[in-house]
Amino acid sequence: MTQTPQSAPYTTTNAGIPAESDEHSLTVSPNGPILLQDHYLIEKMAQFNRERVPERVVHAKGSGAYGILEVTNDISQFTKADLFQPGKRTEMLARFSTVAGELGSPDTWRDPRGFALKFYTEHGNYDLVGNNTPVFFVRDPMKFQDFIRSQKRHPATGLRNNDMQWDFWTLSPESAHQVTWLMGDRGIPKTYRHMNGYSSHTYMWINAGGEKFWVKYHIKTDQGIDFLTQEQADELAGKDADLHRRDLYEAIERGDHPSWTVHVQVMPFDDAPDYRFNPFDLTKVWPHGDYPLIEVGRMTLNKNPEDYFIHIEQAAFEPSNMVPGIGPSPDKMLLGRLFSYPDTHRYRIGPNYTQLPPNRPRVQVSSYAKDGPMRYEPAHTARPYAPNSYGGPAAAVDQFGEAAGWQTAGEMVREAYRLHREDDDFGQPHTMVRQVLDEAARDRLVSNVTGHLLQGVSRPVLDRALQYWRNIDKEIGDRIANNVNGG
Ligand code: NDP
Repeated sequence: MTQTPQSAPYTTTNAGIPAESDEHSLTVSPNGPILLQDHYLIEKMAQFNRERVPERVVHAKGSGAYGILEVTNDISQFTKADLFQPGKRTEMLARFSTVAGELGSPDTWRDPRGFALKFYTEHGNYDLVGNNTPVFFVRDPMKFQDFIRSQKRHPATGLRNNDMQWDFWTLSPESAHQVTWLMGDRGIPKTYRHMNGYSSHTYMWINAGGEKFWVKYHIKTDQGIDFLTQEQADELAGKDADLHRRDLYEAIERGDHPSWTVHVQVMPFDDAPDYRFNPFDLTKVWPHGDYPLIEVGRMTLNKNPEDYFIHIEQAAFEPSNMVPGIGPSPDKMLLGRLFSYPDTHRYRIGPNYTQLPPNRPRVQVSSYAKDGPMRYEPAHTARPYAPNSYGGPAAAVDQFGEAAGWQTAGEMVREAYRLHREDDDFGQPHTMVRQVLDEAARDRLVSNVTGHLLQGVSRPVLDRALQYWRNIDKEIGDRIANNVNGG
């Protein structure tokens, strides 16, 4: 008798051999020793010991689903990327996550949320690895590792530690914009369905005529922005640590497919040098009044993963996956991530991670990369080297040979970005506090910061934190100081 996956009338070993028992190991008499020849038992124990892959060092806890991007506008004047051509429909995968928490941490901890997208385009995978915030805490990849360690656990206690967080933030004033955002309402979304996504980084777009533009993506929730207060989030962390994962899965299961409207801000290539802010600084936005949003299309999540581990835990997103018509910008954080993302995947799930179901391109791969653990896709190259005279393949230089780059020259230096007219660390967060937030949102901001500072932040870090807030907004800083000092 043979069995199909549908029938599955009996259990087998991993090699498909019928198992003799699901309950009893092979022993010499009922009370006797277990025999090494019980391959089924040994295999079960050994496989179990290897069931986990290392958790992501950031964005460990995530949830995701498959869906579709439909282009609703004609933006072909800005990019030739096939997924953004008028009327195009492209299958995709999304993964949302918290940043600092571990695999089992509560979904409702205050944290930015990862917003990672993979589009299976006709020119290979395009990954847009953004967050639910348009800015970030640091602007140079040299500081990223230190930043993350300050948000993780204290080496002695193994506890998360607000003193480390504020110590790093106040010594890194470029964090002020993102910290203001984080401590406000959007620091705890109601669900993954109720938050926006942003590329945060600036990218380059190239149209069919070779003209170049700078772009930022804004992926706005059609469910409406909504948030949890600190009190609600604290309560829910105890009641349902997996609230956001549950919500996304159940909404899709009941046919309530969440969608987002994709927009871009487009900056003409030559605007960059004289723009009032450095357009490649990840701690800044481009105000909407300068570069209004242009609609691109709609992204809808309509299919849950049939196996969480296969499709979400093994999903590997990398900003280095850019298809023709899209390129990087001089954003130093982006340039650092182009290396670090594929590198972490090689470590976490092996060098052939692009052959795994969620990462496999929907087009033929004809790469000369070769072998390594877990390789099973054929290479589609006549010989394992290039050039070869046995049928290639060879790069289609006429079609795809145009480098997505910009002109640069100068001495090698270790220096901060060149400052533009209005560049400073506190101006944009001040605008947010004064012009975007209403009175009630400002009250919640003051309360959230006060609560955070009162949990283990000691002097002199505490004094620096109060000054940091006064730099953002004098009145907000004074109110926080008053609360913290018990005034
Ligand atoms: P606008 O008034 O045009 O835009 C303000 C934007 O702030 C809104 O569009 C909204 O972004 C976002 N926002 C609203 N409430 C909150 C909140 N509680 N927390 C965080 N963001 C919120 O002004 P500008 O474009 O001139 O930007 C002013 C300030 O707004 C910036 O300094 C920045 O701090 C913040 N901001 C700007 C964004 C941008 O890309 N220009 C994006 C997000 C925030 P959305 O429409 O994306 O929901």
